[in-house]
Amino acid sequence: MYDYLIVGAGLFGSVFAYEATKRGKKCLVIDKRNHIGGNVYTENIEGINVHKYGAHIFHTNSKEIWDYVNKFTEFNRFTNSPIANYKGEIYNLPFNMNTFNKLWGVVTPQEAKQKIEEQKRAAGITDPKNLEEQAISLVGIDLYEKLIKGYTEKQWGRPATELPKFIIKRLPVRFTYDNNYFNDKYQGIPIGGYTAIIEKMLEKCDVRLNTDFFQHRDELEKEAKKIVFTGMIDEFYNYKFGVLEYRSLVFEHEILDIDNYQGNAVVNYTDRETPYTRIIEHKHFEFGTQEKTVITKEYPKEWKKGDEPYYPINNERNNELYRKYKELADKEENVIFGGRLANYKYYDMHQVIALALKKVEEEFGQ
Ligand code: FAD
Ligand code: UDP
Repeated sequence: MYDYLIVGAGLFGSVFAYEATKRGKKCLVIDKRNHIGGNVYTENIEGINVHKYGAHIFHTNSKEIWDYVNKFTEFNRFTNSPIANYKGEIYNLPFNMNTFNKLWGVVTPQEAKQKIEEQKRAAGITDPKNLEEQAISLVGIDLYEKLIKGYTEKQWGRPATELPKFIIKRLPVRFTYDNNYFNDKYQGIPIGGYTAIIEKMLEKCDVRLNTDFFQHRDELEKEAKKIVFTGMIDEFYNYKFGVLEYRSLVFEHEILDIDNYQGNAVVNYTDRETPYTRIIEHKHFEFGTQEKTVITKEYPKEWKKGDEPYYPINNERNNELYRKYKELADKEENVIFGGRLANYKYYDMHQVIALALKKVEEEFGQ
């Protein structure tokens, strides 16, 4: 008999399993995939740590979370500075003085702010209600048209006017010549890849891969006193109130016989026509000098049952539906729900770790 059955060997499940095991609890961790790590999984190919589910850059403002992850591995000094390619024109991201200079020829922060203010005024937006209005009021119409509209609409498969504005507020807008994609104090890539961190977290637990909770629910529930569930909350309740929507992705990995394909870890293709949103060149996350290179093209697509759910679509309809499931989840005495899928939230890694540690504290005390 296990104390905890942990459904999902992603970050949430693995942090919980590590902390529970440390406190003398017996944990069984299952995952329906054939590997641990969930979406942070990395695989070594040609000596390069390949982020199999898209670029993962660790960043946090919390010293506590930074110290926590550094207990498991050393991080390098990587700073994410993606490039946007709009029909062959190259811009720096996030939106900063380099971007404004390239687009408008402006040199000073005052000139850039004036340009944005003019465009915002011309669009007549005072109280932004959706992603499109929010974006135009942050960076003006020109940047919206070239770097945001096409990328956003292919990423989400919906008009930007139907998307929540918080999505675009993830990106900094800066009036300095600083291409750092994140504002957080701490940032880096684990030297040796993310999988090594998860291996350490799960070292002392039993792990069963290729095991879908819903295919073996009755037997599995009998094996443990409590469940930690990190899969889709609507599936847990057999979709009784309806199906939550997600955005899915297809990753196309290629090994190339050249040492440098694009000169940067992440290049976003911001036009509507290119079918992928970004190309990742993995060696650049760790300043690799290998002879070959591995690249990944990321194609967004609509999610349907059976596909991998990568991004929750947090619009009003889905948030309302999630609230109904959460009401049921809150009443469960022996099930803990957590992570991107069970909480139906667009969480980054540091947020998932913080959340898992909070649940650990609630469960075991300090
Ligand atoms: P997951 O990693 O999804 O783990 C859940 C696990 O549960 C999965 O392994 C799944 O197979 C398993 N599971 C689900 N249902 C079942 C079932 N029925 N039975 C058994 N197992 C099941 N965050 C950052 O901080 N920085 C980034 O740069 C970044 N980039 C990202 C890029 C992409 C393309 C994506 C999709 C996410 C990115 N993230 C990033 C977010 C990060 O991946 C998540 O915050 C984190 O991995 C979530 O961990 P989790 O444990 O909640 O979920
Ligand atoms: N975005 C954009 N153009 C870009 C990069 C991002 O319009 O070149 C928008 C897009 O809507 C995206 C959101 O900003 O979904 C958040 O971007 P982020 O890089 O945080 O997305 P993630 O890495 O989580 O997919």
